[in-house]
Amino acid sequence: MVSQRAQAIQPSGIRKMFERVASMKDPIDFSIGQPHFEVPAAIQEAAIEAIRSGKNRYTVTQGIPELNELVAGSLETRLGKKLDRTLITSGVSGGLLLSYLSLLDPGDQILLPDPHFVLYRVVAEIVGAEPVYYDLYPDFRLTRECLEAAVTEKTKVLLLNSPSNPTGAIHSVEELQIAAGFARDHDLTIISDEIYEAFCYDAPAPSVAEYSDSVLVLGGFSKTYAMPGWRLGYAAGPDELLEPMTLLQQFTFVCPNTPGQYALLQMPEVDLKPYVEDYRHKRDRLCDALANGYGPIRPGGSFYVFPPLPAGFTGEQFVEKAFERELLVVPGKAFSRRDTHFRLSFAVPDETLERGIEVLQSLTVD
Ligand code: PMP
Repeated sequence: MVSQRAQAIQPSGIRKMFERVASMKDPIDFSIGQPHFEVPAAIQEAAIEAIRSGKNRYTVTQGIPELNELVAGSLETRLGKKLDRTLITSGVSGGLLLSYLSLLDPGDQILLPDPHFVLYRVVAEIVGAEPVYYDLYPDFRLTRECLEAAVTEKTKVLLLNSPSNPTGAIHSVEELQIAAGFARDHDLTIISDEIYEAFCYDAPAPSVAEYSDSVLVLGGFSKTYAMPGWRLGYAAGPDELLEPMTLLQQFTFVCPNTPGQYALLQMPEVDLKPYVEDYRHKRDRLCDALANGYGPIRPGGSFYVFPPLPAGFTGEQFVEKAFERELLVVPGKAFSRRDTHFRLSFAVPDETLERGIEVLQSLTVD
């Protein structure tokens, strides 16, 4: 009954984790991929007002013009250049599906980072494309060599993710210039997932779109404004690509969430600095506490740390050991071909962070 496409999809490691959490009383949840704060009040109020004032119908496929203008304007400021067009999407996940459908035919190859956010691989499989990995271990830095080792004559797309899930690494200008040059030489389109762009702790994340025109930028509101359930994001880039993506959106998602789009017009009223400051503090506290025993690379952005597993543990053993102490972490295998690391999310209240640190420290001593 079920298609081969559907049969081929394996449940994600993260989902399995969510199922187990449900059985716990007061878990220390370091597995979450969403901010712990609430949607900023100005945006909440505007969403309620939008619903009350009848903003509940379909909008135009590409999203309301005012929100597109806001997104285009802030991208222009950030990138120092104007992109052809924007499209409001149903989250970055929606943008990923539309971009893969527009760029990849069955049998084409897409270069994905290893480690990577799991949707990159699964959506490739859904559209019949072949994921091929460029290896970012051990320091999560991008080199020409790691890209050249993965490219073939079937490669069509290079996917970049900075700041990264799960590593938190931010690609430097030099790395992005390498990626742009490599894509140019091999005639590849770049998809740049910049969903964690607002969460940078040492310096803003540069975008590869500053160094190449053949780039689709995917950005989101799920993390920035703590609204993953609202399903809103954006895509921006060349007309040539945005046109088919918009057409595909018309016949799949139809339009993005209407009251949410109106609520996001309040974005300029929201000061994100206190949230970012709070997460910088949490990053530093966690990385300092794990320096002995784990030695993680300090992430420049996102709200994840991706430490190596302590000696003698497989990912599964370590996750199980943490689980016995009510601490939830995600094994690196959920993001990677390797079973050498694990992912922690520090998007938690300080008190939870301290409880988790205590367990983590005890796990290397046991
Ligand atoms: N890209 C990355 C790197 C992510 O971590 C996530 C969410 N975990 C997404 C995209 C999808 O986000 P959304 O669809 O909610 O915008």
